[in-house]
Amino acid sequence: TWGRVQRDLLEAVGKNNYTTWIEPLEFNTVENGVARFHVPTTFIGNWVSRNFGQQILMHLTRAGAEVERIEFSVAPKNGARKDAVSAKEFRTKTEAPAPAAPVVRTASANGSNIDLPGAPLDKRFTFDTFVVGKPNELAHAAARRVAEGGPVSFNPLFLYGGVGLGKTHLMHAIAWHLHRTRPDLRVMYLSAEQFMYRFVQALRENSSMQFKEMFRSVDVLMVDDVQFIAGKDSTQEEFFHTFNALIDQHRQIVISADRAPVEIKKLEERIASRLQSGLVVDLHPTDYELRLGILQHKVEQYRESYPGLKIQDGVLEFLAHRISTNVRVLEGALTKLFAFGSLVGREITLDLTQDCLADVLRASDRKVTVEEIQRKVSEHYNMRLSDMIGPKRHRTIARPRQMAMYLSKKLTSRSLPEIGKRFGGRDHTTVMHAVKRIEELKAVDNQIAEDLELLRRMLEA
Ligand code: ADP
Ligand code: MG
Repeated sequence: TWGRVQRDLLEAVGKNNYTTWIEPLEFNTVENGVARFHVPTTFIGNWVSRNFGQQILMHLTRAGAEVERIEFSVAPKNGARKDAVSAKEFRTKTEAPAPAAPVVRTASANGSNIDLPGAPLDKRFTFDTFVVGKPNELAHAAARRVAEGGPVSFNPLFLYGGVGLGKTHLMHAIAWHLHRTRPDLRVMYLSAEQFMYRFVQALRENSSMQFKEMFRSVDVLMVDDVQFIAGKDSTQEEFFHTFNALIDQHRQIVISADRAPVEIKKLEERIASRLQSGLVVDLHPTDYELRLGILQHKVEQYRESYPGLKIQDGVLEFLAHRISTNVRVLEGALTKLFAFGSLVGREITLDLTQDCLADVLRASDRKVTVEEIQRKVSEHYNMRLSDMIGPKRHRTIARPRQMAMYLSKKLTSRSLPEIGKRFGGRDHTTVMHAVKRIEELKAVDNQIAEDLELLRRMLEA
């Protein structure tokens, strides 16, 4: 029945929710009206229980199972991932008709009664597998220093940089290293989103005291992607207090974000200033040398899974040259190439590479076009693409059109007259006016600023 329930849930919650939350559940048993599932982490258990518990219960019942209640317990799936915290017991229940608040029973190995439910750590993300080059050497050195507890302590360590440049990898590496060398330390790693989720949950359950206690009892706290809490006022506030309490007690803090503290919009100034009171280092975009190094390192790792697979000289150099985006894309390309090579059972040649990776290579070459901008903007505002170039002057259409013109100016190398031409033959002064107008609006209208940021990110992705 679980198979059928899974299909029903997929339909009910949508593909994204399904892959993120339902797929990780491992069905265990139904006994005495209790359906039991294994979940990889407490976080997932709590979240699923709160947000999907009722639906799972309903679909199980519909499928004929006699279930009144659901229980989740933590068990790493296939041992592939390990929880950031030591032994613990955890239960969360969903009961019909009203879901009970998830109960977290805690008992940690060292006898203390405070649980540290961090996010899972990826076992591949260690210092051993991190390739160091010019663009990331400072960040790497700082991370190592923190992990090894060197003479100078950087507190907090603030790592920032674009997507896929290794921030999460370095944070996990610190955690793994500490787990191994200082098992007595209480190390907690989680994303800012998870921090917020827990905080909101604590408020709802009137357990903010426990929340505070838990976070203030750690020796090392690592919060990933902290830009996420910008604009979320009460979460920022709580984060700030947690942060200060830990720093005052000389506990180590490591933070990451996609940009420098002062560049994070809607982050309170006092928080930004505290965030940069330690060491701030950025991960620069990868250069050719580093990309080649990473590829060579990866190939070594792949040899285990694909013994005997040959790769022609020059292929890695070609990839390092042509794929200049983030490391995740680079890794994805190599994985695909190896899988393909082993399928066809041939040496990986340059020709094979170009065939197999045609789409990746094209995407990597890709420049944003005015037409693409028009399409994305009109999708975003639910308007017809034809209205981008049409004559309508109503604000609901004219404004998005101006935004598209603005983005065209910012993201492409087209001149004002060229842009005007692509917007139904408008004059270059119209485009100029649009750019100026949006620039003004952006400064005073948060919604517009946010929309622009979002569109820009989608277009550049
Ligand atoms: P970020 O958190 O900055 O978005 P990640 O740490 O998730 O990026 O890195 C994306 C992927 O690229 C991961 O699989 C990571 O292992 C890999 N990666 C990034 N930088 C390096 C590096 N210097 N050496 C080896 N792998 C790397
Ligand atoms: Mg990350």
